[in-house]
Amino acid sequence: MARRKIIAGNWKMNMTPSEAVELVNTLKPLVANENVDVVFCVPAIDIVPVVEAVKGSNIQVGAENMYFEEKGAYTGEISPNMLVDAGVKYVILGHSERREYFGETNEDINKKMHKAFEHGLTPIMCCGETLEQREQGVTMDFIRQQVKVGFQGITAEQAKEAVIAYEPIWAIGTGKTATTEQAQEVCKAIRECIAEVYDEATAEAIRIQYGGSVNAKTAPDLFVQPDIDGGLVGGAALKPDFGSIVNY
Ligand code: PGA
Repeated sequence: MARRKIIAGNWKMNMTPSEAVELVNTLKPLVANENVDVVFCVPAIDIVPVVEAVKGSNIQVGAENMYFEEKGAYTGEISPNMLVDAGVKYVILGHSERREYFGETNEDINKKMHKAFEHGLTPIMCCGETLEQREQGVTMDFIRQQVKVGFQGITAEQAKEAVIAYEPIWAIGTGKTATTEQAQEVCKAIRECIAEVYDEATAEAIRIQYGGSVNAKTAPDLFVQPDIDGGLVGGAALKPDFGSIVNY
């Protein structure tokens, strides 16, 4: 069975609530492709107006992060329950910027994975190596560790619904897309890792995105690779270009 492509925008820390609504209105007709899943992952403060603005369209809304506790004295954090109540369906977990600037560990991300499934949210779990790791030849050792710890205790049934985003850190926001071959190679190896941890059926079902300077030019080649099931798009998701990417 062919996996359905999932093309998600990661808005990062961009767009005020009013700018967000404007952007949704611009992009809505451009991303109206019923053959792929289209997700806008937006800053927390934009979630409510964006959920309202996408009504009646094919766009689903995601968050860029959440906390792994249910409620209480965690000033500044957002719970899974809050996201669900606001109409969120997806949540990016363990983006490299969260790992680097906010000290998120594989163990934190694993806790968040459990919470996401508990609340019916689909996690988009990010992984990816630094340039140094690539040059040292330890890319797959590093990513296997991220995936194995991230998925610890997650059942095969849950894993089948999950999304993994392979994002080489050296390709994020740099304009340097991984070559199609590099991206396919790692996405394939991630799928093999899932087969090892679970089974073939789970590996066949799980969706694996590529992310890192994806644009309208590079998307078509990337998205037809056998193990690349779409993309997680940063900069280009804030522009009409995102329409071309979704209709690659
Ligand atoms: P980029 O970001 O497309 O701007 O490289 C991708 C991401 O960080 O998810």
